[in-house]
Amino acid sequence: MSDSSDKHAAKNSSRQSFSAAELLHELFPGSAEVPQGANGQPTLGLYPVADGRLALVCGQQLAEFTPLSGQAKTALHCDLCHYTRSPSEATIYRVVVAQRRSRYVTLCHSTVHCQGRAGTTGLQALAERIFPIESGAQMF
Ligand SMILES: [Zn+2]
Repeated sequence: MSDSSDKHAAKNSSRQSFSAAELLHELFPGSAEVPQGANGQPTLGLYPVADGRLALVCGQQLAEFTPLSGQAKTALHCDLCHYTRSPSEATIYRVVVAQRRSRYVTLCHSTVHCQGRAGTTGLQALAERIFPIESGAQMF
């Protein structure tokens, strides 16, 4: 199954597109495996990657959050910490969860503070909304 997605990733390597494995390697350099958190919990968190994107990592799973261009005109509700933010304080991200299917997630700009407010419980709830990601390459 991973065979077809690897080919897909290789074909697109010339543009700014990374496979989940590449992103995980970038986020956790020098480790062949995604590190386990303390007390055996799988890694869970949002990590800034290139070009303003965020990567949601949950164990071996990774979802890429791509910020929408432009700025909202009305107040935004953060989907992680559930604070109401002004348009300049939060960004709407698009997450491709399957072929032709995306979810839109609003998150605070300051992801460290946002995750601090949300805590592990909030991150788990977000991860449950996003995962599992269906790879389009695997579906066809
Ligand atoms: Zn937030």
